[in-house]
Amino acid sequence: MIKITDLNLKMYKWPRSKPITNGLYTYTHNLLSIVVIETDDPNITGIGISGNLEVTPQVGKHMCDHFKKVLINLDPLDNEKIWREMWRPKLVGRRGISTRIISGIDIALWDIKAKIANMPLYKLLGGFTNMVDAYIAGGYYEEGKGLDELSEEMRENVSLGAKAVKIKVGALSINEDIERVKICREAIGPDVKLMVDANNAYKHYEAIEFARKAEKYDLFWFEEPVEPDDYIGQREITRSTSIPIAAGENEYTRYGFRDMINHRAVDILQPDALIMGGVTEFMKVVALAQANDLDIAPHGAQEIHIHLVTAISNGIILEYYRDTVNSMYGKIWENELEIKNGQVYAPDRPGIGLVPKWDKLEPYSIET
Ligand SMILES: [Mg+2]
Repeated sequence: MIKITDLNLKMYKWPRSKPITNGLYTYTHNLLSIVVIETDDPNITGIGISGNLEVTPQVGKHMCDHFKKVLINLDPLDNEKIWREMWRPKLVGRRGISTRIISGIDIALWDIKAKIANMPLYKLLGGFTNMVDAYIAGGYYEEGKGLDELSEEMRENVSLGAKAVKIKVGALSINEDIERVKICREAIGPDVKLMVDANNAYKHYEAIEFARKAEKYDLFWFEEPVEPDDYIGQREITRSTSIPIAAGENEYTRYGFRDMINHRAVDILQPDALIMGGVTEFMKVVALAQANDLDIAPHGAQEIHIHLVTAISNGIILEYYRDTVNSMYGKIWENELEIKNGQVYAPDRPGIGLVPKWDKLEPYSIET
């Protein structure tokens, strides 16, 4: 039997070349929280990533120290047992930071499992395919970026082979954002998919107005129109428009997705394994979605989600962030995931296949 011997959380933060703004927030930095699990086999180390801990790195660190005591000497292959051990609602909370740390730990456990199995994670999880369409996420609001610059960004994405692109809405008036949608559709032509993401900025009646005005631009989805807990408002939106509604990046665990599905509040589910509970929990949401004939389009973290979206039969598309939104692009991982002709291939290396470039990351380490 293999045993867990150590668990650490390493957090990094570096400035973006330019701050980016969505419907609610401006982001000045990129964050990365890497979970490292050591085992008594010196050749087997698990690497996972936890969701954003930007405002509370100290809480993340303390949570990780707490879970370390739980995990030491357990068998890393027993992910169901370990998840259950970590999931103690009265002690660690049922959402938020604690579940993000559980997520990073669980992802690292699956990295270990697949490394021991000597196969890439997507194969271990189901191996439905080894390649998936990707969309380039961007279209942020930025200082000095007008309609011309937005249009240029979209044309550049298409010239890179993108068959789908996403832009932000929700920070301006509805009519101004509709204008942005219009010029993006014109820039990319009729055959490239276009998505919009409001990052919870609207009230449900505003979202209904937006969708009504946006329908003629043939949107592939309208993402997070309202507050993540407003299932009823979101159901009203799905009923009012032909545009599919996508959501889930702020949802936690199988229970949150169960509620969203039961409210008929979503057409395309966007679980984020780094936030909602890791690979173990993600695969349960996949099964829930399959039982309801719903599709999965994971949120962010392309280097992890490439394995999850290709493993399953209802994974439709991968979110892909370009070098333009990350000044450390290419300096974080050996073998950075690449998009070619709008598609991404799952890595063939054992495990998740992430090897951090520790020396490049070191200068941006967050001290806690
Ligand atoms: Mg989003």
